[in-house]
Amino acid sequence: MIWCMMRELGGRVLLSASDLMRFSGCHQATAYDLQLLRDGGELPAGDDAEARILQAKGLAHEKAYLAKLKESGRPVVEIRRGSMQDCAHATRAALADGIDYVFQGALHAGLWGGWADFLERVDRPSALGTFSYEVADTKLKREITPKHVLQPVVYSDLLARVQGRAPEFAHIELGTGKRATIRLADYAAYARRAQRRLEGFVADPWPTRPIPCSDCGLCGWADRCQETWDRQDSLFNVANIARGQVMKLEDAGVRTMAELASLDHRIRGMAEALLHNLVALARVGTGGAYVGGHEQAVTCPLPHDELARVQRVAAPAWFPAGLAGPGDGVAGGSEWPSGAK
Ligand code: SF4
Repeated sequence: MIWCMMRELGGRVLLSASDLMRFSGCHQATAYDLQLLRDGGELPAGDDAEARILQAKGLAHEKAYLAKLKESGRPVVEIRRGSMQDCAHATRAALADGIDYVFQGALHAGLWGGWADFLERVDRPSALGTFSYEVADTKLKREITPKHVLQPVVYSDLLARVQGRAPEFAHIELGTGKRATIRLADYAAYARRAQRRLEGFVADPWPTRPIPCSDCGLCGWADRCQETWDRQDSLFNVANIARGQVMKLEDAGVRTMAELASLDHRIRGMAEALLHNLVALARVGTGGAYVGGHEQAVTCPLPHDELARVQRVAAPAWFPAGLAGPGDGVAGGSEWPSGAK
């Protein structure tokens, strides 16, 4: 699991771009983070092997970019990790000196702070002099997604406070070796809306519950969520079920796998074939214990070829619609602003 703990500064929660990205993916993860910060208790699970490999690759990508900059002969200042205040002070000094690149520059204002991968000098006047800076982030991804834009936008806002002028662009060094450049004005409203929503949640958290999303695979709270789904006999444990399908079933009063497995009536607004498949998969998930409302001494209510047909028919249609999406946050296809160059 790739995890950065939520921090406090001066007795207040210090929000970072990572916190914002996590919140955009899953509000439940932020609820757990906050609970840990404020009340202590159960720690998230340690990194698993896949997460450690990803993390190592991410660091290698960042180091390779740093090495490339150094090889170019242009000066780079590295800010050594310490307290946020000390690092922010050292970063301001490096920016005032007009150094070409600052690696791991710390930026902080109000509730927000963090360490930007790179700050790059550009020939655009600011309060610092005849120059100013733009944020460059390194990401292993092949292309940028809405969530990944949040990080450079948040750091660019903080950078504007230091240099007295908003940067025009931010950059993402992709895993392909290509650079994606975004025009910050195109994303400012999207990012600020996400920031205000997170600030509101931190000030007064609303009730949340774990809902599977694309972040679960690398989430430190995954065991805790799975325990919840198991304890509740949740519909989310039905293989390949989509979030929208769970909501529709719950609205109709079907809230557990057992209830779905023994369902004997139609659900308004759900195609009969789809419902049939979901019931079949719920029966498989409950060990075939519920067939037509009566307990059966079978381990699987479907013959193998029937089960294979159900999975063949069901999986391709359901998966992209639900499980690949984010949690109930802001990062969805319809909210992906245009403007990446
Ligand atoms: S495991 Fe998934 S649902 Fe649970 S907190 Fe993490 S991202 Fe959210």
